[in-house]
Amino acid sequence: MNLILLGPPGAGKGTQAKRLQLKYGLVQLSTGDMLRAHVAWGDDIGQQAKSIMASGQLMPDDLMIRIISERIDRPDCKKGFILDGFPRTVPQAWALDRMLSEKGKNIAVVIEMKVDQEALIDRISGRYSCAKCGAGYHERYQVPKINGVCDICGSKEFSRRADDKIDTVRSRLEGYVKITTPILPYYSDKKILHSIDGMADIDTVSLQIDDILSGVKANESAALN
Ligand code: AMP
Repeated sequence: MNLILLGPPGAGKGTQAKRLQLKYGLVQLSTGDMLRAHVAWGDDIGQQAKSIMASGQLMPDDLMIRIISERIDRPDCKKGFILDGFPRTVPQAWALDRMLSEKGKNIAVVIEMKVDQEALIDRISGRYSCAKCGAGYHERYQVPKINGVCDICGSKEFSRRADDKIDTVRSRLEGYVKITTPILPYYSDKKILHSIDGMADIDTVSLQIDDILSGVKANESAALN
């Protein structure tokens, strides 16, 4: 099963995608993480991405579509994938459908995580992660069990994203409303859009997603019988 997690930056898409990856064996495809890896490698894409990402702007559609298309072709995506951060524009959504149908695949479900903007700013501006294993933390809502030590790998080094500064966060949120939310009617017309309360605690959000996926699976098996 292939699914899309849609929601503004900081809505918790990455956290939920990681849980779905563990629970269902689906691969998390985060375009933001992919671009950050290119920035760390310092290759051509990374050099282009560095300033665009730091200012909260979007990378060109054609480049993002190519990156995703190549990634989906890898064998680990056979069982299914979770798109996190893609599509982000209407042309990306159209291109995704064209590309998937050429590959004989489709998107089974789109989950929109609805959140309150001011709460998001609070969430994003306090978040950081382990510099070694990438585990996510928050200054107020999710601190490591031992202060300054990663729960997962024991590292004492943490980092913050360059684009998690308040001004950049505001411009990313504005971009989401203007450029990404016009995608929603496209998926609601296809009857695959489900909206959930992304402000609930992490476990409750996971339960809402589990319910939707069980419903989709039940419909798929009913259609086969
Ligand atoms: P994210 O980690 O999803 O918040 O993405 C971080 C940044 O990467 C965004 O602010 C954009 O600059 C860039 N980016 C990620 N995904 C896309 C995409 N699908 N299209 C264009 N730019 C993207």
